[in-house]
Amino acid sequence: MSGLWKTRIGLEVHVRLASRSKLFCACPNLFETNPNVHICPVCTGQPGSLPALGRGAVELALRAAVLFDFDVAMLSRFDRKHYFYPDLPKGYQVTQQEVPLGRDGQLEIEVDGRRVRIPLSRIHIEEDAGRSVHSEEHTRIDFNRAGAPLVEIVTDPVMETAQEVGAFLRRLREELRYAGVSDGDMDKGSMRTDVNISVYDSSRLGRAEVDAEGPRVEIKNLNSIRAAQDAVDFEVARQIQEAQETIRRGAQLHSITVQTRRWVASSEGLPGHSKLMRTKASQLDYRFLEDPDLLPLALLATDLDAARAMLPEGPLAMRDRWRCEYDLSAHDAEVLSSSPQLAAYFEATARALQAPVRGESPPARQSYKAAANWIINDLASLSSGFDKVAPFQVAALVRLVESAYISHKSGRLLLSALVARHVDQPGHDGDLLEMAQALDLELVNDSALLDEYCYAAMARREDAIQSWQAGRLQAADALLGEAMMLSRGKAAPDKLRARLLALLEVHDT
Ligand SMILES: [Zn+2]
Repeated sequence: MSGLWKTRIGLEVHVRLASRSKLFCACPNLFETNPNVHICPVCTGQPGSLPALGRGAVELALRAAVLFDFDVAMLSRFDRKHYFYPDLPKGYQVTQQEVPLGRDGQLEIEVDGRRVRIPLSRIHIEEDAGRSVHSEEHTRIDFNRAGAPLVEIVTDPVMETAQEVGAFLRRLREELRYAGVSDGDMDKGSMRTDVNISVYDSSRLGRAEVDAEGPRVEIKNLNSIRAAQDAVDFEVARQIQEAQETIRRGAQLHSITVQTRRWVASSEGLPGHSKLMRTKASQLDYRFLEDPDLLPLALLATDLDAARAMLPEGPLAMRDRWRCEYDLSAHDAEVLSSSPQLAAYFEATARALQAPVRGESPPARQSYKAAANWIINDLASLSSGFDKVAPFQVAALVRLVESAYISHKSGRLLLSALVARHVDQPGHDGDLLEMAQALDLELVNDSALLDEYCYAAMARREDAIQSWQAGRLQAADALLGEAMMLSRGKAAPDKLRARLLALLEVHDT
């Protein structure tokens, strides 16, 4: 079918702020508890109750605004958005429609190694609704979430692929988590996104009198990055097909009905698909109205300064620094910065490595690499390894293996022993050197003893010595194996090899 179809995608992301209390009352901002325990007259919309804007939520909203370079409105205001829904007890939601907290922000994302700047049109503060819990017979309503503080971040419709949408949501979540604005957990509803999609025929766009663009379709409330990407892929294909059929019928693309749809994830063999919720004809009129119970939000320049001062080093800057300061690979830096908690753990380990130890030189660059490997490959696979093994112990482990005091394999044993010990004797500081001695893991480093193993091996393998002298250098491996066996696997391998080669050089037959 003809046409060069392209896509415009914009997102509206709802982010739950990690403040202690709700937006307009002192109820705890918690809802993974029994239903309807964190409620009061304000958040359940009782007559006569009055809202009071909470400082904690405003501070986090402002931090998000400066984090994404928004132009902050020093005076923004609150509006009522009216609609009826059982989990919205007031009959309206408080939001910032006319004058949002910020406009014209941005976020840079990376797609296939290419950096793309995504313009953000606005950020505003609003309250969440309650939650309806449906069962076969009943719908129950939990108001713990009613009045929870949100910011909504809206992008310009500049994205074109599901891949870009995924990259955007991951970057956004990562920045929000590092800045402590939100936990960003989509499975807990802390981040949800609406996706706006339209398709157009780029071969016909811009030609006068040519109708080349389909209507914008909104898909509501996607609660995972996977769902957002699947919804984009499905919807793009659906809209192109609909547009082509419309053209075939000789009708205009703008005659296609504007729709709001919802995403139904794949289940029981049925592929995921979007489903019609409402069309433009039944579009809601929200009757926006400035909230007479709330004063405008007036900010001072010092509020902005304070918000900027609260921004920690972001994940991108941190990765760049690690690659330069610790010589980490891009992959390791990426994995270790995948959460602020893990990043802090690695940073603490690196600092423990830098702490001066008597008689030892400062850490080499490969020490950081070794620490990264222990954390990524070993600690992460132990159940609650990060709770049970402290960063200073990982640093001690790196030192023990590097100085050939124990083997790498024994290092693994030591880690497991640390975890087990944490369970048996919580609070024990688990001195690694002591534990290695108790478990008899020390390697033999003593040159005189290593020489004894080498001589004994050489006495047994006269043939290998002759091979080696005849220039077959790999014959040394046979001798090395023999000497290692005689040490019952306890010889420090690098030192044993060095001693053996030295002895072979001076050996007379
Ligand atoms: Zn309340």
